[in-house]
Amino acid sequence: MKHGMERRTFLETAGASAGLGGLLGAGCATVKTAEVGMKKETGLRGDITALVNATPFVDTHEHLCEESHRIRSKTEKTDIPAPDLGILFSHYSDSDLQVSGMPPEDYQRLRAWNVSPKEKWKLVAPYYARCRHTGYQQCVRESIRALYGEDDIREDNCEAISEKIAAQIAPGFYNRLLKEAANLEYCQVNALDVAVFRKSAQPELLAQDLWTIGISSGINMKTLTAAAEGAPVKTLEDVHAVIDHCFDTYGPRAIAVKDQCAYARALQFDPVTTETAAPIFTRFAQDEQSISATERKALQDHLFRRCLAKAEEHHLPVKLHTGYYAGHNGMPLGRVRDNASDLCALAHEFPHINFVLMHIDYPYQDELIAMTKHYKNVYADMCWAWIINPAASVRFLKEFLMAAPAHKVFTFGGDYIYAELVPGHAQVARRGLAQAISELVEENWLAESEAPALVDRIMRGNAHETFDYARAFRNCTQS
Ligand SMILES: [Zn+2]
Repeated sequence: MKHGMERRTFLETAGASAGLGGLLGAGCATVKTAEVGMKKETGLRGDITALVNATPFVDTHEHLCEESHRIRSKTEKTDIPAPDLGILFSHYSDSDLQVSGMPPEDYQRLRAWNVSPKEKWKLVAPYYARCRHTGYQQCVRESIRALYGEDDIREDNCEAISEKIAAQIAPGFYNRLLKEAANLEYCQVNALDVAVFRKSAQPELLAQDLWTIGISSGINMKTLTAAAEGAPVKTLEDVHAVIDHCFDTYGPRAIAVKDQCAYARALQFDPVTTETAAPIFTRFAQDEQSISATERKALQDHLFRRCLAKAEEHHLPVKLHTGYYAGHNGMPLGRVRDNASDLCALAHEFPHINFVLMHIDYPYQDELIAMTKHYKNVYADMCWAWIINPAASVRFLKEFLMAAPAHKVFTFGGDYIYAELVPGHAQVARRGLAQAISELVEENWLAESEAPALVDRIMRGNAHETFDYARAFRNCTQS
């Protein structure tokens, strides 16, 4: 640790590196957030925390719905929970609450319109007390601090917080939450309410993934029919035409390909010929349940490999869910354990595709570090990981940076449906990231002078290098 002139030089470099000259002094929302309810870091840690707070993230993974849908859902009953504190406990947080004992029917009441904030708080409180230290609930508190000016949620402020949540949902709130409060440059979104690709009304803020699961690795006739847009889907040749149509239409507008078939199958994709897959699909098209598990895997393998060929043709990175499962009471850990090793064959066979393995493959992050170190075309994404296990994520980042090239990690994705939780997640990530970098400097693995460039790279530079935002945005606005 050095002091005096060098510390001033460090801070000047930090501001310049983030491209945010006056922001450190101006007190942006994110910097203020870091100082509410938390002990203020000083010295090296203070400088690195200020640097990390001032640097915007490129957010490489969200499931955010459109802002217009949120605004409509403020007055209309849709798939979105009522606009009150229930929003804060309805994604990820709910899993820890239910694993802590909250009955499923109480969770449904938490999302309902005809239950008051005080009644909802009474449903949450006993289980929140049990799991309040987890990353999911720390994220809830960080969002409450960032957006509603409270340190925590309690019986005496649950109504006031609920009023603020509802008041906030108005045109422009995505920009306020995501750009101002969370300090994000833009978000990459895997829309869950479309067959393959969402035409967003905000393509500058919400770049979109091309979603392959329903037309390949988890093929189902409903998605396939929707993606076909009126074209026939009776033969395998028809399915090939649908896949080609999706990639040729949406590939130029997409930021990446996204697939999370790891929730339903192993990530080992054998080569399967058209001759083998064609008769399987003909039967599948008539009755989806008529094919065996082996035939289903063969059909999925064949179609997913066709998607990979199209992704390569369109120069799209391929993001794959690896590791931990969302939800609760349903994770086959044996299959999860093999995710990274199952993918070695694809990494080798498709050297021109950049594979982005998501969620640090938690709890098998050592395997992911080994893969990113060994395969030139394998990248690690820390999306969601910071709130699954903040301590493991700090360890992961330190170990990654000392094992693999630094250009192959993306350090933030909120992975949320509701934008209110993204500022909290970004704050948890910034705290962990600052801790990891500070520890590397304190332990003499990293020179203090290298920190600004490294932080800029892993928070935003790597994403700009790997994902072609300018191309996707241009094509979204021209067509
Ligand atoms: Zn996700």
